[in-house]
Amino acid sequence: MTAPVDLRSDTVTRPSTAMRLAMAEADVADDVYGEDPTVRKLEDRVAELLGTEAALWVPTGTMANQIALRANLRHGDEVIIGVGSHCWRHESGALAALAGAQTQVIGSDGTFTGEHVRAAFKADDPYQAATKIVAVENTHNSGGGIVWDRAQLADVIATAKQLGMALHLDGARLWNAAVASGTTERELAAGFDSISVCLSKGLGAPAGSVVAGGKAVIKAAHRFRKMYGGGLRQGAGILAAAGLYALEHNRRRLGDDHANARAFAEALAGAPNLRVDPTRVQTNIVMIDVLAGTSKAVIERARESGVLLGAASATRLRAVTHLDVDRDGVLRAARVLAEVGARL
Ligand SMILES: *Cc1c(COP(=O)(O)O)cnc(C)c1O
Repeated sequence: MTAPVDLRSDTVTRPSTAMRLAMAEADVADDVYGEDPTVRKLEDRVAELLGTEAALWVPTGTMANQIALRANLRHGDEVIIGVGSHCWRHESGALAALAGAQTQVIGSDGTFTGEHVRAAFKADDPYQAATKIVAVENTHNSGGGIVWDRAQLADVIATAKQLGMALHLDGARLWNAAVASGTTERELAAGFDSISVCLSKGLGAPAGSVVAGGKAVIKAAHRFRKMYGGGLRQGAGILAAAGLYALEHNRRRLGDDHANARAFAEALAGAPNLRVDPTRVQTNIVMIDVLAGTSKAVIERARESGVLLGAASATRLRAVTHLDVDRDGVLRAARVLAEVGARL
């Protein structure tokens, strides 16, 4: 029995032996006191990569987004955000529960335009919430791993600034966006007040994210990290060592994941009862529409044949490539899925 091909998410990777060794050898101290040398090194490295004044390690991407947003919000303020965005849809309602913010969801595929932002902005009026932040997600997960168009992004940034709003970037997969568009993370992060990046998605660290931004934002985020329970003391350094290893060894190979995702989509195109558009595959995420039956039925049958997939909706599957699945694996997954489709 061969191991299953696990395409449920890019969070399913296991830390390699070399990464575990780096973790075992990490020099650590109490990060709540700000004394951990490995955490400092990782934060400096991310700040350098993103071109920000400062950065702060946090245990999860959810915490990274939430404390970054919280740092620029007061209770009752409003956040403008794209349809299906992680901060709004997959963070357990934290924006409402913990930041006390209301959200206004705009656009149709996760991206939106400056015109959308202008239309959603509320005037300074005691009857209305104060619109304070525009949140962008790049790449956009539920949009199918799509990379923002650069001109459109520049327009959104300029509009938000004109209206006096702060900008947050959920860059959980900013590394993928940079590789796919042949640019740097620094360029894609320019203009944002806060940026969150994940070390535990395609980069393959077992946990850890970083919030980056100006000194004032990071200082405020630091207080919220403690408030939200994210001060990890000596544990942070061990996880930060994995993050440093991941940045050094697993960032440039992300293009392989993108090529595998495209090969998977191309092999699957035309399969009965399934619809996939390979030309929409820009990074490591492939969305597959189920034209007969449900996602759940396809997922169960594929699982029986050793292929694991996720559901984006009742009739849409999500497949994600990562460093623990190779070209043979994705081609095997495409064959299995085509057979499942034929039997629907
Ligand atoms: C995974 C992810 C996060 C963070 O999730 P955690 O599971 O909390 O690390 C944030 N944004 C996006 C777009 C993601 O895909």
